[in-house]
Amino acid sequence: MTQEVAGASSAWQVALQQYDRAADKLNLGPAVREVLRNPKREVTVHFPVQLDDGTIKVFTGYRVWHNVTRGPAKGGIRFHPLTDLQEVRALSMYMTWKCACVKIPYGGAKGGVTCDPKKMSSRELERLTRRFTTELGEMIGPDSDIPAPDVNTNAQVMAWMMDTYSMHRGYSVTGVVTGKPVSIGGSEGRQDATGRGVVYMIQEAAKSIDLDLRGARVAVQGFGNAGEAAARFLGELGARVVAVSDSRGGVFSEDGLDLPLLTRHKQETGSVIGAPRTQALSNDELLETDCEILIPAALEGVITERNAARIKARIIAEAANGPTNPEADDILRRRGTVVIPDILCNAGGVTVSYFEWVQDREEFFWSLDEINARLRRIMVRAYDDVQRTASEHDIDLRLAAYMLAVSRVAEATMTRGIYP
Ligand code: NAD
Repeated sequence: MTQEVAGASSAWQVALQQYDRAADKLNLGPAVREVLRNPKREVTVHFPVQLDDGTIKVFTGYRVWHNVTRGPAKGGIRFHPLTDLQEVRALSMYMTWKCACVKIPYGGAKGGVTCDPKKMSSRELERLTRRFTTELGEMIGPDSDIPAPDVNTNAQVMAWMMDTYSMHRGYSVTGVVTGKPVSIGGSEGRQDATGRGVVYMIQEAAKSIDLDLRGARVAVQGFGNAGEAAARFLGELGARVVAVSDSRGGVFSEDGLDLPLLTRHKQETGSVIGAPRTQALSNDELLETDCEILIPAALEGVITERNAARIKARIIAEAANGPTNPEADDILRRRGTVVIPDILCNAGGVTVSYFEWVQDREEFFWSLDEINARLRRIMVRAYDDVQRTASEHDIDLRLAAYMLAVSRVAEATMTRGIYP
């Protein structure tokens, strides 16, 4: 079984287990516990797309709102062959907790289309994106549900979504998606925000265990939007990125990888594998590489009871959503590994998405310095809250982050009351 299959099939069960641990610890009442355990709305659409050879193929897409008690639904759109309703549901729940953890006034959502974008042309992806956006209809909108990029989607895909939505209304609605190009209402700093936030969180965790980032060895699984930026910023801080990988495999260099060269190699060949002056290593080997900092930045379900005891990193920074299962968490806690949980670690993306949406609504744009300063403030405050909760209850950072997040959503739910 591949890692990807294991991840996709169990993602929702893992999300529920993580939630249940927090609900137990919080002694959450049965009614609110049941409300938060269930997604509010799930939409599945099947839609035809004309391929470049003239044939028609029917695709399946999803949009799930887990919870919108604290604000509009927010979450990325994933294009992947293994994306299914269970995965999208799990990722939507993570978004609810993430927004609450960093106190961004959004609910949680996620979307996806089961497709293999690597086998599709740009024109085919555009037609798929535009039709999917249309199929979602009234569900998305700047006041109701604001999509963003995720695995295999990017600023261009967001531009097509924004344009399609705007065409149906007859005027430009910039605030319907975030992660757009800056030329059409995107925000400075959004492209790098997830990776930048991950590095802010690593800096805080490193302080807590007296780890000097200069010279620290880093391994990154997934050299995409989140992983590449995190690697680049850590390199700028003097860390040594010794291993990176993508879906086809990984590369290693004891002396530290040449990141600009690696980026160029990936652009030219579609993968990091075979880059000059590197040794090959598998995705499994990467996770167990000798390093101080491990950044899973690809898909869920990669750190499990099967490999957790062999992970050597002192800090695991979850740029990806759901990379670690609860059994692995238990092993890592016993070993003293600091796991910065996804709902805190990768919240830089949704935080700058929030800034983008605010800027679109005000039609007044901020400088990159202002954005990065606000991002750091929000994330470091959230880290401090989580760390304090963990110390008070003698628990790991994940359970602490969940306790804070779930209690905030539960309080909002009880304050609003159950309609009617
Ligand atoms: P991306 O498509 O830009 O990059 C994903 C990378 O992972 C690619 O390099 C791909 O080749 C690699 N990959 C795919 N399958 C792999 C596998 N089995 N093993 C190793 N590598 C594999 O996607 P992204 O936006 O960087 O998202 C990566 C993770 O970060 C996801 O879990 C996503 O939910 C999470 N995330 C992204 C954002 C964001 O703003 N883009 C925000 C928060 C969290």
